[in-house]
Amino acid sequence: MQDGAISFLPGENGCYSAVKPFARDGGTVNSRHFEDDILDLMHESIFTRALDGRILSWNKASEQLYGWPKEAALGRDTHEFLNTECDVGLDAAQKTLSDAGAWEGSLARQTAEGLEVVVEARWSYLRDTNGDPVAIAETGTDITERRRTEEALRLSEHRYHNLFQAMAASFWELDFSAVDEILRRVYRAGNTDFPRYFRDHPEVIREMMRATRVVDVNDETVKLFGRDGNKEELLHNVDPFWPQESNGDYIAGVLSAVSGANNYSVETKLRAIDGRVFDAHFTACYPPDTMGKGTLLIGVMDLTARNNAFAALDRMRADMAHAARVSMLGELAASIAHEVNQPLAAIATNGAAGLRWLNRPEPNLEEVRTLTDHIVSDARRAADIVARIRGMASSRAPKPVPLSLNDVVSETAQFLRHEIKAHKAELNLALARGLPMVMADRTQMQQVVVNLAMNALQALPQGPGNSRRVNIGTGLQGGEVLLTVEDSGTGIADAHLDHLFDSFFSTKEQGMGLGLPVSRSIIESAGGRIRAGAGTSLGGACFSIVLPAFGAEAETCPLA
Ligand code: ADP
Repeated sequence: MQDGAISFLPGENGCYSAVKPFARDGGTVNSRHFEDDILDLMHESIFTRALDGRILSWNKASEQLYGWPKEAALGRDTHEFLNTECDVGLDAAQKTLSDAGAWEGSLARQTAEGLEVVVEARWSYLRDTNGDPVAIAETGTDITERRRTEEALRLSEHRYHNLFQAMAASFWELDFSAVDEILRRVYRAGNTDFPRYFRDHPEVIREMMRATRVVDVNDETVKLFGRDGNKEELLHNVDPFWPQESNGDYIAGVLSAVSGANNYSVETKLRAIDGRVFDAHFTACYPPDTMGKGTLLIGVMDLTARNNAFAALDRMRADMAHAARVSMLGELAASIAHEVNQPLAAIATNGAAGLRWLNRPEPNLEEVRTLTDHIVSDARRAADIVARIRGMASSRAPKPVPLSLNDVVSETAQFLRHEIKAHKAELNLALARGLPMVMADRTQMQQVVVNLAMNALQALPQGPGNSRRVNIGTGLQGGEVLLTVEDSGTGIADAHLDHLFDSFFSTKEQGMGLGLPVSRSIIESAGGRIRAGAGTSLGGACFSIVLPAFGAEAETCPLA
């Protein structure tokens, strides 16, 4: 034991007291070695200083904390030696010690290496047998790391708060601990099939909404959900913001939280405080740390503008497709007239013949019956053609249904029969057997095939001796359904390839330039792709379409 060192053990009241008579002048004190050893075993820095500040004892943990060996520390003025700084000021700390007999607080100090350490310190007096203070004991714990972490946390909370407020989306902090309770209650009552239970008990969903407390919302939320900038009226529960029709989306969010998912997002309808219902994208995050505390963060984006724009775009696309169809019907007017004329002419002929059989002195009813059968079936054929034209000319909304592409091609080929004849062309169909269905609108798909076939016919070279062929084929390509239209026409100039699908691009005198862009929009809205290329075996252009297969069911094609 060093001269000048003091020996002490912790007293009952938490203060340290001298256990040996202590020389007031700070002189030599006899002590047992084991007390020193015990202090060296402590993880805390423990040292003593005389009332004038000189260091009297210095344990191993102090050596480790401050980097100074005992020999270097003893006898030095504490605060000068360690460069002590105190939040509240050293004088104030000293005064608290004098008045109350102890002081606690944090101190900034410098180590032997010049590094700053933050120490959580406690000072208390050591007293002699008369109770008079003779020295000060200091215990200290290094909290430098903790301070750094606290500071980092404070900064991150500050950043989070800034983000929360500044984000362009609506953010909500919710406390759902009471919802957890309701779920437990439902479960304890023996209802393990939650989705079914909540389908049958919408009132419990409402109870859960009322139990979901709104802790905080950002400015964007006030703008989107509030009225007159009033934040307070939003800070109750979430019940007013979920219209009845969105019950299922709310409960799906709750169930995904309890099933351990990290997040949940859904496009749904939410309601502002004034009752206005709007389309919203709702996202909930379930980070495990906040979940443990029963709070969660919700983000909401207003989709009204986006959905309005989409609807306008869809309407525009539909209008354009309709315009293109009507214009195509114009081009096909001669074919249509011819198509309708055929059954009508047959009806007239058969009608006249029937009358003749009836007007005979002995009417031949058998003949009349046969002729009338023909009249009925021709009238049906004419009606079918008219219905198809009406379908093409109408502007109803597209209705995707499972379709056989082979059927679409065969129907279209009938429609184009006269046109092919007029162009003196040969149409070959190569339709693959057992193709899966595709999901598309029938009239729109007919429109696409008519567009491609009409373009092919119009590209065929004039004059005798030229090959005038159009091939339409179907097949499977990488699991998708493929449709190709090839021709022996003039082909597509390289310079035009990049513009074929641009609206109003046409190289034809009477062309509108809508056929291909409309076809592309139809194919893409059915999840497919359309491509133009050269290099066909017929020498002209080749257009190919792929569409996702719908279902595994294969169709049998009557024409194949
Ligand atoms: P339009 O037929 O009114 O011109 P489209 O959009 O259907 O409009 O076609 C745009 C252009 O693409 C045509 O004008 C033509 O130049 C080119 N094109 C389309 N199909 C073919 C084809 N089979 N062979 C050669 N060129 C074609």
